[in-house]
Amino acid sequence: MSLNRLRIGILVVLGLLLVLGGGCQSRQGSFSLTEELALIEQDLSYQVNCGPRTPGSPCHQQIQDWIIDNLQKNRWGVETQSFAHLDFTGKNIVGKYGKGEEFIIIGAHYDTRFTSDQEAQPQLRNQPVPGANDGASGVALLLQLSREIPKQFSLEQKTIWLVFFDLEDNGNYPDWDWILGSRAFANSLTQTPTAVVVVDMIGDKDLNIYHEHNSTAELNQEIWAIADQLGYKEFIPQKKYRMIDDHLPFLQQGFPTSLLIDFDYPYWHTTQDTLDKVSARSIYVVYDTLIHWLKEH
Ligand SMILES: [Zn+2]
Repeated sequence: MSLNRLRIGILVVLGLLLVLGGGCQSRQGSFSLTEELALIEQDLSYQVNCGPRTPGSPCHQQIQDWIIDNLQKNRWGVETQSFAHLDFTGKNIVGKYGKGEEFIIIGAHYDTRFTSDQEAQPQLRNQPVPGANDGASGVALLLQLSREIPKQFSLEQKTIWLVFFDLEDNGNYPDWDWILGSRAFANSLTQTPTAVVVVDMIGDKDLNIYHEHNSTAELNQEIWAIADQLGYKEFIPQKKYRMIDDHLPFLQQGFPTSLLIDFDYPYWHTTQDTLDKVSARSIYVVYDTLIHWLKEH
């Protein structure tokens, strides 16, 4: 072998090592982006194609079992919290990962609304909301986190809980209220989270997420700064809405809490909140922002 050939050989080997090393560093055995989007899409359509997840319905029960199966398959510890409301039993589902000192909660509701009260046409207002954005999108994001967190974080790094709240979306009926699941959950919490992030309606094809007024300003700034570094223009650094959502019970306990929501969604609480209005890419943008935020927080 000539010296030149040896040099070329060494260069080729070094080049290969760089390519492989670089690849390992950036993705750590994860799925490709196309595969991740396909999995998010699959999780969205599984919920919506089942049917409305209204309290007491067969799909409400089926989606509970499916969330628990997914968490276990992705190596999360699972606990459930049952609580009574009228004749219903609400059930929060908690996925637990890690034993690090820093304790982060990320939550979303999985129930959907009994009636489409925002419908323009009165004859449709007694129909249930399909909940593609309002329900399914947040669950799909949490399940995407459940696939990736165990690959990207060691057990010692952090304690992370993914909480799937029940009975968020059925306020404004006699004897009902909003956010019953998160209220039961926050009231029973015995440990103090360093930060809580709630996601709701983050699947709109035309995604615009503004700072929500009740949320902790410093935490919002941290998350929006990460989105900005990643080039996600969907996060707009201005305040817009003030929401009643699953973040409130945590704020009332004094925990830094942020609600990520796109409330510029024309199909909110209508029969038109269907799969064609949402996109896996929008959910991915919020997921990717949160997984980077988790690394830096
Ligand atoms: Zn809703």
